[in-house]
Amino acid sequence: MEDCIFCKIVAGEIPATIVRETDDVIAFEDLHPQAPHHVLVIPRRHIATLNDLTAEDAVTVGNMARVAAEVAAERGFAEAGYRTVMNCNQQGGQTVYHIHMHLLGGRPLGWPPG
Ligand code: C5P
Repeated sequence: MEDCIFCKIVAGEIPATIVRETDDVIAFEDLHPQAPHHVLVIPRRHIATLNDLTAEDAVTVGNMARVAAEVAAERGFAEAGYRTVMNCNQQGGQTVYHIHMHLLGGRPLGWPPG
């Protein structure tokens, strides 16, 4: 997608601090971290929102969760605990319309979220 900032990160057209890459997923540091660890995990393929998922995306979405867990383990906060979040559309707080899983860790996280 031409105007999608995350597609540009996938294409290497804008910089990001990439922490992990697989065939179908990449993970990079969030520019505005909300916790000591805040990583975004995205599919390489452009998918605008969770509402646009199809059956063929199931493996990729599973891989997004697996990569998030691997990053948490590598960084040593998997056992303490962490949160993954996928915001959908305006009331869900989505601002970038290329699906992404937030991985937040390194501090206690309140519930429910705002
Ligand atoms: O869930 P939501 O769509 O609001 O999250 C988008 C996230 O993308 C934000 O946490 C924002 O800081 C991050 N972002 C980024 N790099 C960009 C643009 C947005 O890390 N170039």
